[in-house]
Amino acid sequence: MIRTPSRVTGWAWFEEVGDAVVAEARAAAAEEACGLLVGRRSAEGVVLVTSIVPTPNTEPPERRRNRFMIDPLRLLEVEKSLRESEEEVVGFYHTHPDSEPVPSPVDRRFMELWPHTVWVIAGFTRGSEPPRIRAWCRDPEPGGSVREIPRADPPTGHVRGARRDSGGVTGGAKGPGRVLNEAEFPSGKRKK
Ligand SMILES: [Zn+2]
Repeated sequence: MIRTPSRVTGWAWFEEVGDAVVAEARAAAAEEACGLLVGRRSAEGVVLVTSIVPTPNTEPPERRRNRFMIDPLRLLEVEKSLRESEEEVVGFYHTHPDSEPVPSPVDRRFMELWPHTVWVIAGFTRGSEPPRIRAWCRDPEPGGSVREIPRADPPTGHVRGARRDSGGVTGGAKGPGRVLNEAEFPSGKRKK
């Protein structure tokens, strides 16, 4: 999954990616939604999420309120489809229908298995709307801790698809950090 492991130092996503995650969160309502984050990494360890692949929550229905599970076969399929491209599965997203976007004890256990990945959580805290979005990772060294990843703004001038009239559905797309430069990232074009 990880071809260029490096410490994750920041993250960003295109506005429509944030919109898509928020739409998934709302559609799942009282259950956790989940899926894969696809994107690229800069040499500095900033992860740029360029698209998502929603995946069914394969936990039994009675557990989906506060658990999620991604079908590993689906993950393999997506990784295979990206094999010839500069993009890769860079992380996972899931939603917390009624809690803070902070990793639960179960989340932390799974994070341990996936070093160098970004864990985006969209949390509806006390009915907050839109959900709050934060991203986390777990450093792989022994005793590595879970830390929040600072957010950056996506590269400017990189508009993929028409900007939708979001009607307030922004997913909190604006990051507080620096604006990334597209040149920092490998091209998303397929190799020959
Ligand atoms: Zn969680």
